[in-house]
Amino acid sequence: MMSKEDMLATGKNQDLDIQKIRYDFPMLKTEVNGKPMIYMDSAATNHKPQVVIDKLTQLYTKQYGKTEENHTFSQMMTQAFEKTREKVANLIGAQRPEEIVFTTGSTEGINIIANGFAKAILKQDDEIVISLLEHHSNIIPWQLACQLTGAKIKVAPIHSNGELDTEAFSKLLTDKTRIISFSHSSNVLGTMLPVKRICEIAHARSIPVLIDGAQAAPHMPVNMQDIDCDFYVFSAHKMGRPAGVGVLYGKTEWLYKLPPQQGGEGMATEVSFEMSTYSPIPKKFEAGTPAFEEIVAFGTLIDYVTEIDMAKTAEYEQELMQYATQQLNKIEKVNIYGTAPEKEPVISFEIEGMDVKELEKYLNDEYNIAVRAGQLSAQPLIKHLGLEALLRVSFCYFNTNEEIDLLIEAIKKFINNKI
Ligand code: PMP
Repeated sequence: MMSKEDMLATGKNQDLDIQKIRYDFPMLKTEVNGKPMIYMDSAATNHKPQVVIDKLTQLYTKQYGKTEENHTFSQMMTQAFEKTREKVANLIGAQRPEEIVFTTGSTEGINIIANGFAKAILKQDDEIVISLLEHHSNIIPWQLACQLTGAKIKVAPIHSNGELDTEAFSKLLTDKTRIISFSHSSNVLGTMLPVKRICEIAHARSIPVLIDGAQAAPHMPVNMQDIDCDFYVFSAHKMGRPAGVGVLYGKTEWLYKLPPQQGGEGMATEVSFEMSTYSPIPKKFEAGTPAFEEIVAFGTLIDYVTEIDMAKTAEYEQELMQYATQQLNKIEKVNIYGTAPEKEPVISFEIEGMDVKELEKYLNDEYNIAVRAGQLSAQPLIKHLGLEALLRVSFCYFNTNEEIDLLIEAIKKFINNKI
């Protein structure tokens, strides 16, 4: 059996056939100026395995029909659509498929809940607790809710290593706290938040919790019964699906309690000019024609990741992150932000006296290495860190240590050219 040190040195993983997995992703075979694509921006979006592309082609060429109609292909599509709902429910341990609402992404999921709270729950001076680590998508919807209701946002602080200050967070909770909305993991620092503990603390005071799983759900098995959150959102494109598909999980009682946010086809059973009767959950939240073919292909992606085993890919991605962290720490002038013991496979860093936006361009232009630099849609956090920008490298199970070696070589060259 290979030791962990050996695996780190060779970039091999005993449980996964990485070369075979790489073969499944056609975009990894592309080249620019004779240089193969090195994709280290999975935190932004991810590439699609061939099975998903094939499924879409099959749906468009052999099985196309809108859901909820009566002709043969529509019936097939409706069945496949509802089957995908079951697959998602199984994947994340929901109690029943009705707890899964299909959305356009994490952003829409958070907006549905924030709007629902604004209409049905929040009053003047009520409080919403978020964390300093949040992505704009988990800040602005709550600001909009506050503008409508007079509620206020309170921000839970973090420790210098990027971990949530759980004690300070607990002290923020009052009799006026109506909801807590935290990321499962930070898209900037990679920090995993102690979501189970957060839910225990919140539920002891009967406060519901929304978890933004945009960064966590693509990288690890998540289980709603274990976490016990009231709402969980994630985006399928970060897992390897076309953009425009997402999931909002809500506990049954909450989905019943909250009003719908959009009116339209499919979300009402009886409609008159005076008023309408809403469909049972989850349809109540799915007005209009959904991206049904993309959602069905999302089901194929779930089969794919289940077969390769997310527990194994999660472990491998951790190995990649550890290896890259070790190598980056050896480079003078590189400062990594986010050193919490539990992290998602994301590393963000600055280089003393240098512009990381320039490095982002250099890596792209000279090496065909895709990373992201900037404020990473988390301006309050970047400001808190006293920075202008960070360069983020994020990993997926198709990356290798050889690719990391090339990244390190490129960063060293960039720094040497500047000195
Ligand atoms: N939350 C976090 C933590 C994210 O990283 C992102 C995407 N960068 C979002 C929410 C929003 O996801 P989407 O744009 O797919 O709705």
